[in-house]
This record gives sequence, C-alpha cells and structure tokens, in this order.
Amino acid sequence: MNKPLQVMKFGGTSVGDAACIARVAQIVRDAARERPVVAVVSAMSGVTNRLIEAANRAAAGDGDQALAIFAALREQHKTALASLIRDDAKRAQVAARLEKIFDEGERLCKGTAMLKELTPRALDAISSLGERLSAPMVAGAIEELGARSESVEATELIVTDSSHGGADPLMDRTRERSEARLRPLLEQGVIPVVTGFIGATKGGILTTLGRGGSDYSATILGAALGAGEVIIWTDVDGVMTADPRLVPEARTIPEISYREASELAYFGAKVLHPKTLHAVAQAGIPVWIRNSFAPERTGTKITPKGRSNGGGVKALTAIRDVALITIGGPGIVGVPDVVGRTFSTTAEVHASVLLISQSSSQNDICFAVTASDAKRTVDALRKEFAHDVAHEKVEHITVDSNIAIVAVVGENMRGAPGVAGRTFNALGREGVNIIAIAQGSSESNISFVVFEKDMKAALTATHREFGLAAPVEESKAKGS
Ligand code: ASP
Ligand code: MG
Repeated sequence: MNKPLQVMKFGGTSVGDAACIARVAQIVRDAARERPVVAVVSAMSGVTNRLIEAANRAAAGDGDQALAIFAALREQHKTALASLIRDDAKRAQVAARLEKIFDEGERLCKGTAMLKELTPRALDAISSLGERLSAPMVAGAIEELGARSESVEATELIVTDSSHGGADPLMDRTRERSEARLRPLLEQGVIPVVTGFIGATKGGILTTLGRGGSDYSATILGAALGAGEVIIWTDVDGVMTADPRLVPEARTIPEISYREASELAYFGAKVLHPKTLHAVAQAGIPVWIRNSFAPERTGTKITPKGRSNGGGVKALTAIRDVALITIGGPGIVGVPDVVGRTFSTTAEVHASVLLISQSSSQNDICFAVTASDAKRTVDALRKEFAHDVAHEKVEHITVDSNIAIVAVVGENMRGAPGVAGRTFNALGREGVNIIAIAQGSSESNISFVVFEKDMKAALTATHREFGLAAPVEESKAKGS
C-alpha cells in the first residue's frame, strides 16, 4: 500500500450510539482497504458535557450527584457495547477496559468532592474520559468487521504545553512519538483508533485541547505523520454557504481555502475547532469535511488556496451571542488615548474582540464582544473612564445585546470590486439597518452589525445577491 495516509476524525454525533459507531467502523474499514488509515474519535455526543457537569457537581461537594451521572454514562456505554460486539470474550475485554476508566473517573470525582476544589488539571482528567471510552468501542467495532484495530490514547502521542483546557502541541516531540507508536501498527495492517481532544505534557500530565478539540487532534496527527489528507467526518454535508436553518437555499461549498474556512470558524460557523487548520497550514495538507451519515456525498475540501467561484463571495456567517459596546461623545476627540485605553481594558479582562469600528470624527468607538464577555468588559471600561465621564470628556459607554454580526467571506473578494456596494445595496433594499461595518485589510471578510431581528433578512438578501444558492457553473454562465 503506497497510497498516502489518511487521518479520519469522527465527531460526537458520528459515534453517538451503536448504530452510528457501526457505520463509522464500516467507513474506516472500507477506506483502510485502499490506504493506511488512522482514526481519531470524539466522545459519544453529550458525554463530555455530562462529565463536566459531574466534575462541577463534585466540586460543589455533591459527590452523589456526580456518581449518579457516572452510573448513567456506564449504562449508555454498556448498551452501545452490547449491540456492537457479538463475540463474548472480545466484548468482555472491551467492557473491562471501560470499567477501569469509569473507576478512575469515579475516584477523581470523589477526590474533587472531598476537596471541594476542581483544579484545571482535574477537570481535564475528568472531561477527557469520554474519548477514552469511545476509542476502545470504535476499535472493537472495526475488529467486528474483520479488520485489525487497536485503540491508542493520545497522551502517548500528542505532547502539549501545560495550558489545561486549551493546550497546544509541541510538534517535534509529537512527531517523534506518533511515528514511534503508530507507524509500526500501520505497517502491520492494524488500524489505530486514537482518542481525540487529549494530549499530555512532557511530564505525562493529561491535557485537553479545548472544547471541540478532536478536530485539532486530527490535524495535529495528520501533520505529525505527514498524512496525504485529513477527513473530518461530522453530521453535516460540509461547509455551507450559510446556516441552512436561517437560509434554506444554502448549499455545500465544494472547495474553500484555509483562510476562508478560518474566517467562517471565527465568526461562529461551528464546523471546525478554530485551531484545526493551524496544524496543517505549514504542510498544506488538505482537510475534508464530510457527513458520516451520508458518506456518498463528497463534502467540502479545504485547501491552502481554495478554488475561485468567480464571484469572490464564498459564504456568509452570523453570530448573535454578541454585544456591541460603544464609547462616545464629542469630547473624546480631546482624549487622545481613548483607543489605547479601551483595548488595554478589553485585554485586561480577557474579552475577545470580534469587530472594531471607529468614525473619523472620533465621536465614538464601537466594538463587538461575545455576550458572555460583555458585562465584565463594560464594568471595566466604566471604571477606566470614570474620571473622563465625570469631566464630560466621555459622554457615554453603552452596551447593546440585541445585535448580530454578519460576515461576508471570500478570499477573492480582494480582486472583485463592488462587493461592499452590492452587499449594502441588497441590505438597503430589504430595509435592513446597518449599525456598524468593518472590513479587514486582508479583504477576505466584510462584517457588519445589524439588529438581531434583522439577521435572517440580512443573510437571505446577501445570499441571493451573490447567487450563492446557484451551482457554480450556472452562476458563471449567467455572468458571461
Ligand atoms: N468531546 C470533546 C467536546 O465535546 C471534544 C470534541 O468533541 O471534539 O468538546
Ligand atoms: Mg465537534
């Protein structure tokens, strides 16, 4: 088998129950007949949330509640296992492995309940149990189909820094470990099934890569092993031109660039963990998004350059859990460091700023933050500018939560003049009021703020304006 390696990641819904896991096993087994495959799996859907809940209950001193959650998770995994693996001996073997992991989780929760303290390290240890449970089940299901498979905990492979809850890989060491542990398996025709979401520090302390981090695990391993491609199997057909719940005529985009996909991820299109593409950017490894529930569909291919669709605009995205903060008043012209102080303050409170806009009259600065950061940010700003407000240099600091950010994304917008004009014309025709606008100098995204109630209309109008619903060939034909 000289074909390049494929890393395949399966998200929580793709391994959500026995039937789903059986489907995954089939996909992996079929692919592995053609080429070497490494599978990476998430926890069964909902499990990570339940584990985190158990950890929090334990930290609140309610050990019994935490153990009740474990009892329910045990049942769930046992039920799935019972219908996945028919061979008694084999099933007992996997069951024993799961039992050990459950015991470990219970001990962690008991300890947490006793101390009434949940350290980031303990939280990582508890929240990572879901992947450690799902990987042996998936490996077992693959063996059930007659292929050879072995589950591998990523603590043996992915070496990270010690930022618990959001660790990053140390690639050189990760490469060494992954080669040493996985290559021999591949050479023997064994399909490794690796736990997503997890890594370990140099000292062997378990870390997690952040919620939704299994995507990142897959690209980290793809880069470490020099894979030909990474396939993220999920429950949607790929990256869509817009959220189909808001824009029914949205469709799957066949090919999109790293940058476009990142812009979409940044603005809330939750297809990919935001760091996913960092890991493969240097090597330029293509990443596919495909639907494990409809494997016959081709999905979206994410490549370094993408493919132009002629029009420049590729996709729209929107986020509504955001708030717009405005600092204003004619007096701020006389306060030269307003901008500096504003963003030092947002940095101090670790607010992530999604969009910034300032008028040249300097009458106001407005910027958007995620809703959960809003109160903390405004409180800090009121404190920072208390003196200026008292002396009427700053007239107001206001926050509006009834807003949404819509982003128009497309790498080739740069070379397509008039995108902004067409966007705002379309919005004007629909009577959508634009509250603020920002465009990065990279010109791969124009974002604007609208009232939340106008978000759907804004998306629909823009989607129609750029012909995003029409297949590529058709829209080209129309243009020529
Ligand atoms: N299970 C983890 C989570 O729910 C990681 C993942 O699914 O990617 O966040
Ligand atoms: Mg996910």
